[in-house]
Amino acid sequence: MNLNGFQFNKGELCCEDIAISSIVNKHKTPLYVYSSKNLISSYKKLKDAVSNLNIEILYALKSNSTIGIVTLLGEQGAGADIVSGGELKIAKASKIPTSKIVFSGVGKTEEEIRQAIDSKIKQINVESESELEKIISIANSLNTKVPVSLRINPDIEVNTHKKIATGSNLTKFGLPTDQAISLYQRIKLEKNIKPMGLAIHIGSQIFNNLEFKSAYESLLKVANNLREQGCDVPNLDLGGGVGVNYDNFEVDFTGFGRTIYEVFNKQGYSLSIEPGRSLVANSGILIAKTIYLKRNNKKNFIIIDAAMNDFIRPTLYEANHKIALVKNSTNTEEIFDIVGPICETGDYFSKDILLPTPKEDDLIVIFSAGAYGSVMSSNYNSRPPANEVMINNQKIQLLKKSQSIDDKIKSEASLLIC
Ligand code: PLP
Repeated sequence: MNLNGFQFNKGELCCEDIAISSIVNKHKTPLYVYSSKNLISSYKKLKDAVSNLNIEILYALKSNSTIGIVTLLGEQGAGADIVSGGELKIAKASKIPTSKIVFSGVGKTEEEIRQAIDSKIKQINVESESELEKIISIANSLNTKVPVSLRINPDIEVNTHKKIATGSNLTKFGLPTDQAISLYQRIKLEKNIKPMGLAIHIGSQIFNNLEFKSAYESLLKVANNLREQGCDVPNLDLGGGVGVNYDNFEVDFTGFGRTIYEVFNKQGYSLSIEPGRSLVANSGILIAKTIYLKRNNKKNFIIIDAAMNDFIRPTLYEANHKIALVKNSTNTEEIFDIVGPICETGDYFSKDILLPTPKEDDLIVIFSAGAYGSVMSSNYNSRPPANEVMINNQKIQLLKKSQSIDDKIKSEASLLIC
C-alpha cells in the first residue's frame, strides 16, 4: 500500500505511526481518522504542479468543511471556495482571509449575498441573470462596489458520474457562453459592480485532461473576446474536478498543472483553481467495527457499525473504496458484502469483495474517505454520525464530536414544552 500517512506496521494499520486500534480505544467507532501529513503533502504536490503559473488555490469547502481540516489548509496558504452562508462562516472561523474567499453556487439567497458583501470576499461567481440582478440591486442599495465573476457553462459532456457532471447546459450550472458575454458587457456599465473575470467548473472526478483542456479553451475564447471588446477581465477561475483513483490512491496533479500551463501560459490572466476532492480524499479513512457476520445461501455479509449516514458515497455514486481489515488475524478469505445497520438495501460500502474473514469486534477500514464523506453525514435512523480525529505531530486531535441523540432529543423536546 502506498498511501502517505497510513501504513501497515507489523500487520496493523497505523496513521502516522499511531496504531488505529489505540486511536479507537480513545474515540469509539465509527470514526474518521485524518492524517495531517497526508493533507499537507497533497497541498504541496498541487502547489508544485502549478508553480510555473501565478495561481491562487481556493480549497472547495464542500468536500470537507471540518474546521480542523480547513484551518490546516489555510495555514498552508489556501483560500476558500464556498457555496453557502454556512461555509462562509466556517471559512472565517478557520481563519481564511476573506480576501481569499470566492462564493459559487446557483442559489445564493439575498441574505447570503449580503453576508458575502459585508465580509468583503474576493468575488461572487454569478450563475444566472436573476442572480446578477439581485446583486446589482443590493450593491446599489448599499452603494458599495461588489466584485463579480461570471461562471460560464461550456456545454460539454464530461466522462464522470452523472450526478457530478456540471459542464453541460442540461444541468443547472453556469451561463451559456453567449449569455455570459452579453451579461459581462452589461456589468461593465454598472457603477457598483467590479468585474473580476470568468469562472468555470465542469464537474468532479475527471481523469481525462483533454476534458479540462477543452473547457479551458472555451473559457479563454470568451475571455479574449471580451477583452477585444474593451472589457476588463483580470482573473480566470478554473474550478476543481481533479479525479482521485480510489483503487490505487493516485491523483494526477502534474497532468492537471501541465494542462493549465498549455492553455494559459503567456495569456496575461491571473488564475485561480478550486480543488476539493483531490486535496482531502486520501487524507481521511473511516474506521468501523464488525458487529456481526451473517450468511445465507447466496451471500456473506459483514455488518459494521458505520452506515450510509456516515458515508453515503458507495450508494449515492456507486463509488468503490478500498476496504481492508485494520489487523488481519486469520488465513481464510471469503467474498463479502460490507453493509451497515440502516434499514435500506442501499446501506452498503462494498459488494462482493474478497477479505480475510473477520471476527466480531474486528476493525474495518474504508480508505480515501476524506472527501464528500463527513460533510454528507446525517442522523438518518437516529444514528449520531461518526466523530472525527486528526493525527498531528504524533498527537490525536479531536476535530469533531457529533451531536448525540440525547442532545437532539433534548433540543427537540424543549421546543414542545412552550
Ligand atoms: N468548484 C465548484 C464550483 C464545485 O461545484 C466543486 C464541486 O462540485 C468544486 C469546485 C470542487 O470539485 P472537486 O472536489 O472535484 O475538486
